[in-house]
Amino acid sequence: MVVIMKPGFTREELDHAILEMEKGGVKVMISKGSETTILGAEGNAAGIDTEKMESLPGVERVMRVSEPYKKANRKYHPDDTVVELAPGVTVGGKKLLVAAGPCSVESEAQITGIAEVVKETGAQVLRGGAFKPRTSPYAFQGMGYDGLELLEKARAATGLPVVTEIMNTDDVDYFAEHVDVIQVGARNMQNFDLLKRLGKTNKPILLKRGLSSTIEEWLMSAEYILAGGNPNVILCERGIRTFETFTRNTLDLSAVLAVKRQSHLPVMVDPSHASGQAWMVERMSLAAIAAGCDGLIIEVHNDPIHALCDGQQSITPEQFQALMEKAATVAGCVGREV
Ligand code: PEP
Ligand code: MN
Repeated sequence: MVVIMKPGFTREELDHAILEMEKGGVKVMISKGSETTILGAEGNAAGIDTEKMESLPGVERVMRVSEPYKKANRKYHPDDTVVELAPGVTVGGKKLLVAAGPCSVESEAQITGIAEVVKETGAQVLRGGAFKPRTSPYAFQGMGYDGLELLEKARAATGLPVVTEIMNTDDVDYFAEHVDVIQVGARNMQNFDLLKRLGKTNKPILLKRGLSSTIEEWLMSAEYILAGGNPNVILCERGIRTFETFTRNTLDLSAVLAVKRQSHLPVMVDPSHASGQAWMVERMSLAAIAAGCDGLIIEVHNDPIHALCDGQQSITPEQFQALMEKAATVAGCVGREV
């Protein structure tokens, strides 16, 4: 961090600025020019409140010279992080991780049936929401704890680990005990109390990018979990809000490259919520693999027309199979495997 003092600052104002920086945990280097005096922070400036610093009398401007996320930063952790989701199931290595399943758990026959077919096709993780963040309070809200129980039954029947979304901080202990991967949905990416609680577990956390969040905000949310002591964070690009309405969201594939460069954390892509259209899912998945993602999370439903949630973007098991065959080819072109 660099702090530029206003022309004509007083001795008192300078001391105050230095003290404030030191309170943030850094050593302060003073550079006195003929016109400008600059204070440089030596060490980790993450503890300094930039806005407070800027409001101090005598301070002209404050500039961060390094990213505010530290534990998520590749600079301090050059090697890719590989997260283990279940014994033998990892994300972040050469092999891509594919999670598939319905948007929501609807019944035992539905979730177990879909689990069996996606496993057969090569998915390594079963997805399915039990607590659903719906825009309308009148829409299907998910089966709740009963849905989690059905996910456990599907896991017992197939051996597939399960990923499912958490919405309530009070549910963290329950989820930690009953599910394999805890998903933080786009709408909760900045639910900081939830992130802090998840940081106290050691469960893998699938952290989806917020609807309108910048890459830095997303990585700062990851930082919350990492700073709490949980290193098992998986990022998931799921499309962002733009002016375009043809698609549900806009899949930001450049974010995959940006995040892989800035961070060591594995990055998955959700082509289903990104596009909102089943017919786009295959091509968006292939593009995501070509862009260098570490895995995909895809909505697959045995009967999309009658799905209780997100049927229009859910592909059938047959379409999933066709996708997986092509995925293997594209993965091979970029030095990965499915
Ligand atoms: C989901 O995965 O079903 C979901 C609601 O995702 P998102 O938070 O990305 O909208
Ligand atoms: Mn969905």
